[in-house]
Amino acid sequence: MIRIYNTLSKKKEEFIPLEEGKVRMYVCGPTVYNFIHIGNARPMIVFDTVRRYMEHKGYEVNFVSNFTDVDDKIIKKANEEGVSADEISSRYIAECKKDMEGMNIMPATTHPLATQEIDGMIEMISILIEKGYAYAVNGTVYFRTRRFETYGKLSHKNLDDLQGGNRSLLVSGEDEKEDSLDFVLWKPKKEGEPYWVSPWGEGRPGWHIECSVMSRKYLGEQIDIHGGGEDLVFPHHENEIAQSEACSGSVFARYWMHNAFLNIDNRKMSKSLGNFFTVREISEKYDLQILRFFMLNAHYRSPLNFSAELMEASKNALERVQTAVDNLKYLAECAATEELSAQESESIKESEVFESDFDRAMDDDFNTADAIAAVFDLVKFANTHAKEGSSRSFAQTLCGKIQSLCDILGIITEKKAELLDTEIEGLIEERQAARKAKDFSRADEIRNLLLEKGIILEDTREGVKWKRA
Ligand code: AMP
Ligand code: ZN
Repeated sequence: MIRIYNTLSKKKEEFIPLEEGKVRMYVCGPTVYNFIHIGNARPMIVFDTVRRYMEHKGYEVNFVSNFTDVDDKIIKKANEEGVSADEISSRYIAECKKDMEGMNIMPATTHPLATQEIDGMIEMISILIEKGYAYAVNGTVYFRTRRFETYGKLSHKNLDDLQGGNRSLLVSGEDEKEDSLDFVLWKPKKEGEPYWVSPWGEGRPGWHIECSVMSRKYLGEQIDIHGGGEDLVFPHHENEIAQSEACSGSVFARYWMHNAFLNIDNRKMSKSLGNFFTVREISEKYDLQILRFFMLNAHYRSPLNFSAELMEASKNALERVQTAVDNLKYLAECAATEELSAQESESIKESEVFESDFDRAMDDDFNTADAIAAVFDLVKFANTHAKEGSSRSFAQTLCGKIQSLCDILGIITEKKAELLDTEIEGLIEERQAARKAKDFSRADEIRNLLLEKGIILEDTREGVKWKRA
């Protein structure tokens, strides 16, 4: 039985799918105006792991995660570069997909793009207007928040408290709203912005309506799990609930899951504090498997602190698993006997406890920290029980068990053969030094070594440039 902490009830609840054997899951994706940062990577890794575990349990998972490809930040970046918003979003969607691949995040069943779903948004907004849940004023459409009686149920906020906190909005140019709690579903175009034609004039959708529409289109009116970072609980997810439930009249998502934030050196990550890392920057120094392993070492609802020391510790820990796997493969290759001895059969049975520990941890609201501890117990067991003289079957079975548990977590147990950017740059520097010292044979040796790894060097006037073949 899987138990999930539901933000709605603030309790762990038994997971019961809407349809037997199936999971319908929606996770809010990134706004694509730059490379994703390591904070954005946390929900991606967490919910990919939830999906993998559900699949391991035999569920067929329909996993939908959007890209928000129309937004103020995208438009700002496009204007700065003098290119279209489309060019910015397509560029960073492609880059995001590369980072996802590096972190071994499975592509979603569907990755809808907001700009491709505008018709559906216009349709949902029209329904909300018809039902009296929304109204248009001068080209803007607002959701009539107070009309949705259970507004605040996810964030456990009281409407009157919200009203107090929101009063400032009335003086900030939104005085055409009936109520300061009302939020935007459609906004009129501004000069130089992308726009679409709608019954309320040319404009673009608000952010919240995107997810309600994409979720309904690809998963249906009711879904099992809706996920995202904890900053999305209010107002984004509260507004999604209001829109979707006002439109359909039924419960939108049954389980709301939220990951806690990632901080850096115990401070909030921010560009202005200068402690901001993109996934791409991390990939220049570390195999992204280490980043994934690092993230899963904490429970998803606990705040996670990122630091160089913790990444080094993760690197060493992951290496321990990889070395054990390598060792078992070697023992299997060299084994003199094929079949399990009676004692080995006993040991294999004994090792099943680690697999049940793993499942028990994951069943308990996806406790990946305890699940990884179970993997280490199994690694330790394998290291002490498999030795020269073990049968091939014994080494292979233990190796397979470690690999399958790691696979559920999306962790690859093979050591990466590819060179990291920093290693390449180190070798290039060494080659330059060799050339300076007229040690041309060493310089050629390095060039050939890099070539073997698929790295092509080009000597230009600005220095040495390199690319992957
Ligand atoms: P955004 O592009 O800002 O909408 O963020 C995409 C996803 O990343 C959302 O689910 C956010 O909640 C999540 N997110 C953003 N920053 C962090 C962070 N520092 N730690 C964890 N999750 C984050
Ligand atoms: Zn969303």
